[in-house]
Amino acid sequence: MTAQIIDGDAIAAKIVDSLKERVEELKADGKEPHLTAVQVGENPASKIYVRNQKRSCEEVGIKYTLDELPDDTDQNGLAGRIKELNCDPTVSGIILQMPLPKGVDARRIQSIISPLKDVEGMNPANMGRLVYGEAKPGPCTAVGAVELLKSTGVEIEGANAVVVGHSEIVGKPIGLLLLGLNATVSTVHIFTKDVASYVKNADILFVAAGKAQAMWMRYRGESKKNTETPLPDLSALIPADMIKPGAVVIDVAINRIPKGFDSDGQPLLNKKGKTAMQTVGDVDFEAAKEVAGHISPVPGGVGPMTVAMLLKNTVDTAREQRA
Ligand code: NAD
Repeated sequence: MTAQIIDGDAIAAKIVDSLKERVEELKADGKEPHLTAVQVGENPASKIYVRNQKRSCEEVGIKYTLDELPDDTDQNGLAGRIKELNCDPTVSGIILQMPLPKGVDARRIQSIISPLKDVEGMNPANMGRLVYGEAKPGPCTAVGAVELLKSTGVEIEGANAVVVGHSEIVGKPIGLLLLGLNATVSTVHIFTKDVASYVKNADILFVAAGKAQAMWMRYRGESKKNTETPLPDLSALIPADMIKPGAVVIDVAINRIPKGFDSDGQPLLNKKGKTAMQTVGDVDFEAAKEVAGHISPVPGGVGPMTVAMLLKNTVDTAREQRA
C-alpha cells in the first residue's frame, strides 16, 4: 500500500485564504482583529517566531503588535501588563512569546490571559471546554492535527485512536478532541510499558513525542562534559512495522537533528562548515508511507496547521468578544 500524503501546506493555505474575507467583514463592522504578542527580553528564537507571526497576520489583514517588555520583567510585572491588555478594547487577541525569563511561571501567566483573548487556547477555562467537546478557542497544534485527520474522511467514530505523548499543549488535548469525535482513545507516553502493543492496533495514530531531538539535545549537553559519550540512537520512534496497515498517521513531532555522521562519529557538515541539520518527525516517514493509508509529512504536515489555527482563533475571538 502507498499512503495518501496529507498535504498540511495545502489544507492550511485553504483555511488561511478563507479568513481573509472574514477579516474584511469584521473590519467593515468596526471589529478589526488585533493580535498583540507579549515578549519579555530579547531572544533569537522568539525573533524568528515574531517575524513569522507578523507576516502571517498581515497576509490575512490581522493587525499585529509586538509588546516588548524589558528582560528584568518579573512575574508581577508581566501579569500586570497582561491585565492591561485584557482591558484594552483595541486588542482582541493576546499571545505569550516563549521563552519567558527564569522565575516566571508561564502557566500562571497563561491563566491570567482573558479566555476571550486567549488565541492559543491555553487558558484553563478554554482547556476545560475541550471536555465538553468545544474547542473555542482550542490549542492550535492539537486542533490543527485533528483537522488533518478529518480531512482524510476516514471513519473516526469507534476507531481505535492512539496518541503518543501526553503533554498539556499537544497530547492531552488531542486525546480529548478524539473522544469528542467518539473514537476509542489510548494515550501512551514515556512511562507506558509497551508502546508498540498499543500503536500496532491503532486505526488512527497521532505521534507527538519529539524523541530524536530530545536524545540529540541530551547528547550535546553530556558530550561537552565527557567526550567519550556514545552517539545517541536518533532513529524514528515509530518504525513502519509498528504501524497497522491502512492506518491514518499524523506526525506532530518536529525533530531538528544532524543529517548524518562520518565514520569517526562526527556530524556531517554543510557548505558553511556547520553541522548539516534536517527536520524529521517521530515516524519513519519513507517506510511508513508504504504501510499507512494516510500519512502527514514533516515538514509540511501539522506545522502549517498550527499557524492557520492561530490565525483562525484570532479571527474567531475578535468576532466573539466584540459581538
Ligand atoms: P513534551 O516534551 O512536552 O512532551 C513529550 C511527550 O512525549 C510526553 O508526554 C512524553 O511522555 C512523551 N514521550 C517522550 N518520549 C517518549 C517515548 N520514547 N515513548 C513514548 N512517549 C514518549 O513535547 P510537546 O510540546 O508535546 O511536543 C511534542 C512534539 O511535537 C515535539 O517534537 C514538538 O517539537 C512538536 N510540536 C510541534 C508543533 C507543530 O506546530 N507542529 C507544535 C508543538 C509541538
